[in-house]
Amino acid sequence: MSFWTYWRNRLGLHESRCTFCLRPFQIQNLPPASAFLSDTQLCSHCLPHFAPCTAPRCQRCGLPMPKSDVTHTVCGQCLTHDPPWEAHAFWGRYEGALRQALLRLKFDGELSLAPFLAACLLQAANCLPGPDALLAIPQHPEHLQRRGYNQAHELAKQLHTLTGLPLQPNLLKKIRHVPAQASLNASKRLHNVEGSFAAATKVRGMRLWLLDDVMTTGSTLLAACRCLRQAGAVGVSVLFVARTPRYA
Ligand SMILES: [Zn+2]
Ligand SMILES: [Zn+2]
Repeated sequence: MSFWTYWRNRLGLHESRCTFCLRPFQIQNLPPASAFLSDTQLCSHCLPHFAPCTAPRCQRCGLPMPKSDVTHTVCGQCLTHDPPWEAHAFWGRYEGALRQALLRLKFDGELSLAPFLAACLLQAANCLPGPDALLAIPQHPEHLQRRGYNQAHELAKQLHTLTGLPLQPNLLKKIRHVPAQASLNASKRLHNVEGSFAAATKVRGMRLWLLDDVMTTGSTLLAACRCLRQAGAVGVSVLFVARTPRYA
């Protein structure tokens, strides 16, 4: 054994740490099918917990649909009010390990999880029309100052790094500070965020990907997307990591 190999093994330099469980692992032990996630440093124990959602869902908003319902491809809400986005994509359901990872990114400041979650977004975005620019759901400056970062923007930055697509966070601003959506029921959420965004005139004629970490009722994405469309964006696709199994 060479001097270098001895010290490399002794110091654990041949190992990586799993982004999610933080245990050391060797990248070469991962199955080839998980190549895109292995680049983002997830161990073989955690990998299966981040499987994509393949269950039946509404084709317009991603809401999980009962397996027994084979006649409907669109949920009742989207049938009544078709959402203003061109298309949507997401990686998985907001539960289990994926939910934990998103909560740690949002509330515990674990920005080291953003590259892996952005890799999930990129895989999910395969079906979306290519955009002129990316942007995340913005936060009000007061809120941003309190938390120190916007988790959705952190995902957008990583997606920009992975794809080279232009990142233009200034295309949309949150102009009104509103109560946290999580504290409100579904019917109050849309009313809460309506009119709280302002789009730059530059969006006219642009095709955009609008990113968020989680979609619950969809009211934040609806209000932001509507604002961009009213300002002249020709198409907005919404992209989020996880969808809640039902309206909270
Ligand atoms: Zn792990
Ligand atoms: Zn729907």
